[in-house]
Amino acid sequence: MSTSPTSSTSTARSRADRITERCDLLARESAEDGKITRLYGTPELRAARDLLQGWMRAAGMTTRIDHAGNLIGRYEAASTVADAKTFIIGGHWDSVRDAGRYDGTLGVLSGIAAVEGLQEAGSRLDVAIEVMAFADEEGVRFHTAFLGSSPVAGSFDPAWLAMTDDEGITLGEAILEFGGDPDRLVDDALDPDDVLGFIEVHIEQGPVLQDRDVPVAVVTGITGSARAEIEFTGIAGHAGTIPMTLRRDALTGSAELILAVERVGRSVEGLVATVGKLEAEPGASNVVAGHTRQTLDLRHPDPDVRARAIDELNEVVREIGERRSLEAVWHDSPGFAETPSDPALNQALRDAIEGEGYPVVELFSGAGHDAVTMAAITPVTMMFVRCKDGISHNPAESVTVDDVAAAIAVLDRLLGSIASTAATAKV
Ligand SMILES: [Zn+2]
Repeated sequence: MSTSPTSSTSTARSRADRITERCDLLARESAEDGKITRLYGTPELRAARDLLQGWMRAAGMTTRIDHAGNLIGRYEAASTVADAKTFIIGGHWDSVRDAGRYDGTLGVLSGIAAVEGLQEAGSRLDVAIEVMAFADEEGVRFHTAFLGSSPVAGSFDPAWLAMTDDEGITLGEAILEFGGDPDRLVDDALDPDDVLGFIEVHIEQGPVLQDRDVPVAVVTGITGSARAEIEFTGIAGHAGTIPMTLRRDALTGSAELILAVERVGRSVEGLVATVGKLEAEPGASNVVAGHTRQTLDLRHPDPDVRARAIDELNEVVREIGERRSLEAVWHDSPGFAETPSDPALNQALRDAIEGEGYPVVELFSGAGHDAVTMAAITPVTMMFVRCKDGISHNPAESVTVDDVAAAIAVLDRLLGSIASTAATAKV
């Protein structure tokens, strides 16, 4: 592979070194010793934000904290440019419990590194750059994802303020505790006319780049999901006295359904289908289960594929219920629509990857990201970075400095091309 070091890739390497050092420093800000756990509104989230804010300022950015507690660093456009638009590089610095150190933070730190590159070169672009660090993407504390980016995208639902964490603290109270203002979240919304686009650099969370031996990938879109909860009701009874032929066992119905979900998931390229939770009642070793409740999470970027799979599983549920004399009820749960990346932004990203001498690998994301929310107001894309064995949401999360340097060099090149396109559009 031609990775001839240009001047841009050599400074990318030193900035990549700094990124991994900073990931280590952020990792220390945690609710648990020896583990990384940073949930929304907590002192450790605030301490990590202080670090990010210091690095943004050192890179020549002005910083602001919005009413949800998100941190935004801004690097102005060249002073000769009137009405410059803003290009956003995003990421999140909250985490799951016992997390890895790169999920989310890599996006924020890549944005800071991109600005450091401009600062070191003494240059400003024809567009302003904002590095947007979202305070809650994982949604661990309030069980709702994208809480940080939704006010920014103008899609925050005030009803969410009443949601409670495991201690009964409401989101509204947590926002206040974090120094924000739940009544003014509406003021955090960006004006779409001011924004040119959004990118997040994120670890792949899958093994494809490792398999293909390529450092980065273009994300063609974020998958959509369909979710449901299925209940079977039979008759509970004594495990020793009810003959096998007379049983109406809800749990054996569920067992069949779980295997059917796996079969359907395997039947189409790119489809994934999961039963992650199963409850059986009354839940005793010597009692035939009279009632079960199980979840279904089904994902594919094509809504038609999802709809066909859901239809097929609906039929399976009906058939199991009939054959086993179980009452079968299917409840649809809210899923999310697929978010395609912006074609023009993706072409620019492909060109930047090729410009750095790497083959273009295209992936779609099976996990949700803030780009889903941001897509409502601006063109979005993402760049994935190879991670070891595809592991994420786990302390074993690992990236190499070389791969991060590749991502930074691509990002430098992308920003240059976005700025020159914006300049041309003005002429
Ligand atoms: Zn993430």
